[in-house]
Amino acid sequence: MKGEQLESVVYASNMGSYEQACKRFQWEDVESHFTWSRTGKVNMAHEAIDRHVYEGRGHKTALLYCDGQREESYTFMQLCMESNRFGNVLRKYNVAKGERVFVFMPRSPELIIALLGILKVGAVAGPLFEAFMETAVKDRLEDSGAVAIVTTPELLSRIPRDELPELKHVFVVRDSSQLAGDVIDFKAEMEQASYEFEPEWLDREDGLIIHYTSGSTGKPKGVYHVQNAMIQHYYTGKVVLDLREDDIYWCTADPGWVTGTSYGIFAPWLNGATNVIRGGRFSPENWYRTIERYQVTVWYSAPTAFRMLMGANEEILEKYDLSSLRHVLSVGEPLNPEVVRWGWKAYGQRIHDTWWMTETGGQLICNYPEMAIKPGSMGKPLPGIEAAILDDEGNVLPPNQMGNLAIRTGWPSMMRKIWNNPAKYDEYFRFSGWYVSGDSAYMDEDGYFWFQGRIDDVINSSGERIGPFEVESKLVEHPAVAEAGVIGKPDPMRGEIIKAFIALREGYEPSEELKEEIYRFVRGGLSAHAAPREIEFKDKLPKTRSGKIMRRVLKAWELELPTGDLSTIED
Ligand code: ATP
Ligand code: MG
Repeated sequence: MKGEQLESVVYASNMGSYEQACKRFQWEDVESHFTWSRTGKVNMAHEAIDRHVYEGRGHKTALLYCDGQREESYTFMQLCMESNRFGNVLRKYNVAKGERVFVFMPRSPELIIALLGILKVGAVAGPLFEAFMETAVKDRLEDSGAVAIVTTPELLSRIPRDELPELKHVFVVRDSSQLAGDVIDFKAEMEQASYEFEPEWLDREDGLIIHYTSGSTGKPKGVYHVQNAMIQHYYTGKVVLDLREDDIYWCTADPGWVTGTSYGIFAPWLNGATNVIRGGRFSPENWYRTIERYQVTVWYSAPTAFRMLMGANEEILEKYDLSSLRHVLSVGEPLNPEVVRWGWKAYGQRIHDTWWMTETGGQLICNYPEMAIKPGSMGKPLPGIEAAILDDEGNVLPPNQMGNLAIRTGWPSMMRKIWNNPAKYDEYFRFSGWYVSGDSAYMDEDGYFWFQGRIDDVINSSGERIGPFEVESKLVEHPAVAEAGVIGKPDPMRGEIIKAFIALREGYEPSEELKEEIYRFVRGGLSAHAAPREIEFKDKLPKTRSGKIMRRVLKAWELELPTGDLSTIED
């Protein structure tokens, strides 16, 4: 193998050797773990929660919740009963199979219970970020034709009910006695509802969840997933998250985006793990305290969080005992090699990058516990998944050539439609037999995949194609740089030049000398054509709530164009 790599951790894993696993892999084998694969009748909430009660694990802790004010724990039995109650509430209001029901509230046990109750009546869950403002909320409820929503008193005013004729029921969690209008008191209804409930038994192709994507590239789209996706959630929970029965698992993502449901709810509970959910805002102290307090063993987070933790002062790291960690993973954005190296020093853990998208429903290209990691690579396709790099005509490219990252169609958690937008859906499948991701990447001769950028973000400078990620990763190696976003700026001579937007670390001041130094740093470390000829310092970079740098916003700033849909921007 070429290039830098970190040797794999040697411990008994759930997968065995990668090559062997690929050879003998069959989706039918994974399916056979579910009784419904024979009977045909399925319900995600039953599989993730109730099944453990029937199989004698009802008293095991399913959920550890904290947010700085509240701290609660729930067994599988308790989650089963509480979600049964909400199932009964929804049935009382005649919410039926296939209808869309949203949750719009901060992370909390009520959010989880509501979401499970929605699944139990066979409705399609629609999770929304608490930070969405009125227009964003309206667009999503309107597009999906939502019939009900569960929210909090604080967020209620952002739901323009008189403009949403299809929205029949608004459930308000916590005291709603002071609220005007015909809202329904969640708590009062729950208190009256029975713990007994027969879930709606569904077909594997019946709806599960609709996620409006975070919109890094433009208008949000309603990505629709079905029950069948659980096969992938279960399987990747086992072989990628490496979940075992005694694990305490923490996924830091909000259920408002797909990682927070596929891997914040479904995968851990399908595998019977104890699941930590932390509400409240990010701070290095709060996060490390959470790991220490619950003895978290498997931790799934995002590059933006790791970069912020890397930027925090060293003493914080000293203060907390993080030795319970045995497996750390990342998703959402390219994971800079510098961060992987730092993670190894700071936690004694290799941070395992995983690549997938809202549309794919589950992980597809990953670094498994048993693989050697090449820092900067997102790893190899999951056994059962075929990935390739295609040119713009749909031909498979040889190793080391940059092109369209594509996946052979037909994995269990692939989206089944884009709500109300069949034309958009068809674009992903424009080359027969392939799902085209919209990301640009290459594969090396060892079969590792290397992310380069979104197709639209790839820069063409003096005839060279440059992925912004490579430049950004070099930039964050510079001691002054906390975060960097790189775009192509039109240039009469070179086609495009590289422009970098940079947020500095604490203690560094913007200056012309620093620009020059950073330029030379990239030029010397990477190449002349990849060095940013223009640098602009910013206090902060525009990011989505799920932590992605919004390069299209940087580009719009630069070209003085409209910034487009900003509903998912952080602040
Ligand atoms: P939209 O499609 O609406 O613009 P989005 O693409 O940001 O939103 P997601 O589906 O949450 O919404 O993100 C998937 C994208 O995130 C991938 O296509 C890829 O660009 C990026 N991504 C995810 N994981 C990784 C990873 N491990 N390495 C590099 N990029 C990643
Ligand atoms: Mg996308």
